[in-house]
Amino acid sequence: MDIIVATHNMKKRDELCRILSPLGINVHLAEDLGIELTDVEETGTTFAENAFLKAESGCKEGGLPCVADDSGLAVDYLNGEPGVYSARYSGGHGNDEANTQLVLKNLEGVPFEKRDAAFVSAVCLVYPDSTKIEVTGKCRGKIGYEPLGTGGFGYDPVFLPEEYGYEKTMAQLTSEEKDKISHRGRALRMLVEKIGELK
Ligand code: IMP
Repeated sequence: MDIIVATHNMKKRDELCRILSPLGINVHLAEDLGIELTDVEETGTTFAENAFLKAESGCKEGGLPCVADDSGLAVDYLNGEPGVYSARYSGGHGNDEANTQLVLKNLEGVPFEKRDAAFVSAVCLVYPDSTKIEVTGKCRGKIGYEPLGTGGFGYDPVFLPEEYGYEKTMAQLTSEEKDKISHRGRALRMLVEKIGELK
């Protein structure tokens, strides 16, 4: 099956391609098809709404089934913040370092047992006949005290996944280790199962 990926975030795009390709999905980037996708304004109030807006627009413009991910970090102590504002938590769009520092600042003095958080990935696939598939993947963990590791992107250097006993940050995992437990890996594997059910 051929699909187009709607995202302008290169790191996220790499993860989508690297997880979907071995599952038998031919992933096309907009530029491979010689088109430029509109940068859709994320006006939704939930990850799922924003994923749908991006996938619907990409499908219309690309003429192929289109997948989009809207994702972020939800910190329990901060009542779910940064949530849908994860990419622009500190103001400007996509300043990973400033966003991460703001989360650390807002958790100053908060003990380890209260630093629970989850990464959430809402993935939506829209077909040209308007059929849509929506799935959500989560990865639970805790927020550490300082950024550690160089892998991944976004809040990975301060996120300590439960699966690794809170001993390593997501940025200290290999790509393979991250994909196995990540919110995005989980959501995309569910998506591929659902694509199979539609056939
Ligand atoms: P989106 O492009 O609006 O979905 O923004 C996603 C934002 O959430 C990113 O800019 C990151 O800050 C954060 N985020 C999403 N997924 C991850 C991840 O896998 N690791 C770290 N941060 C992530």
